[in-house]
Amino acid sequence: MIAYHPTTIKLHSEHCPHAVQLWKQGEKYDRSIFHTGVVAHSILEEIGKNPDKEPQQITDEQVEIHCSKGREYDKNPEPPAPIPDALEGARLALKWHSRNPVPSGEGIHHEEHYAFDKDWKEVSYYDNNARFRTILDVVEVEEQFDEASEETYTSVTVRDYKTSWMATDKELDTFQRRCQAVVAWLRYQPDIIILEIANLRMGKTYHKEINTHFETDKLEKWKDDISLAIKTLDNQLNPSPGSGCIRCPYSRSCKHFEQMNNEEDIIKQYIAAKETVTRLEPLVKKATKDKTKDGVGFQTKERKKVLDDASQTLLAKWIENDGTVEQLYDTLDLSVTSITKIAKILTKNRQQRDELMSTMTKPEQYPSFGIKKNAKT
Ligand code: SF4
Repeated sequence: MIAYHPTTIKLHSEHCPHAVQLWKQGEKYDRSIFHTGVVAHSILEEIGKNPDKEPQQITDEQVEIHCSKGREYDKNPEPPAPIPDALEGARLALKWHSRNPVPSGEGIHHEEHYAFDKDWKEVSYYDNNARFRTILDVVEVEEQFDEASEETYTSVTVRDYKTSWMATDKELDTFQRRCQAVVAWLRYQPDIIILEIANLRMGKTYHKEINTHFETDKLEKWKDDISLAIKTLDNQLNPSPGSGCIRCPYSRSCKHFEQMNNEEDIIKQYIAAKETVTRLEPLVKKATKDKTKDGVGFQTKERKKVLDDASQTLLAKWIENDGTVEQLYDTLDLSVTSITKIAKILTKNRQQRDELMSTMTKPEQYPSFGIKKNAKT
């Protein structure tokens, strides 16, 4: 019996059904883009589990392990991480910990494993009847006191560490997040679930709260959605080569991707070439960091940079020529970036800023050339 992870189900939506098929067949996939995140996660986990140990010592040990032996995921060994990727993961983890100390103690679980059978009965992680498995980065189970009702209630915070710049509040309503909410709901039966995205790169957190009493139907629906996804993925899954091939971890071993390279259709060829470039670019950047090769690498170019005192110089010159500040202001060509900057100074919070911005900007459609993910032709 196959047990699926939220990330496996994500392969279907982000890439194509065949990616899940290849996962089921045990095909090796490209883990290179995950190394930094994996190392950062391990360090934060170890810091949380060993609060009395020096974080730097933990970090050094983890980098050494990840760069020499590699790690195991669901009993599958994974290759060691390149040292620069591991050091980047270490930097992100330590920076995060210095600003947001990793919690430890009673009710705090790091890298906690969960597994459920087809009827959503919790089973041990490697149980043969498991149909759904997941590991949560941090779970904080707390008894809280509500002063208004003078009653205690249980809250469960599910924290997910992310190392991608792209992980913002949009990540709070993804399939993966819903899976996490369902798992926390089933295991802990809390009153409140707080889903949290911790973006290690940006040093920011995003939250969303679910009241399990008022939102039971929603949680039930999410649970049913996962059951349906599992049932669907049990089928033979056909390929759908196209925009999903971009950043697909199986593109190197997938014969359908290989075929796209040789298609007559120039659009298919373009998608295939784009995936190859997307995959190779970070590696080529690394390889040519110090020296260009065959003309490929970082070229030194020149552009004009505005000096720090340019605005004062401009204002002084303007006044010297009998101009007023209002006239100068009228000549300024404002950009969204510049008015956002001014709006930040003029407002106290995000909501006020958004309101002010909505009075000064409007959405506009414009043609932007590129590939839309999962677009159907
Ligand atoms: S490379 Fe393309 S066709 Fe092959 S599994 Fe990935 S998304 Fe599907």
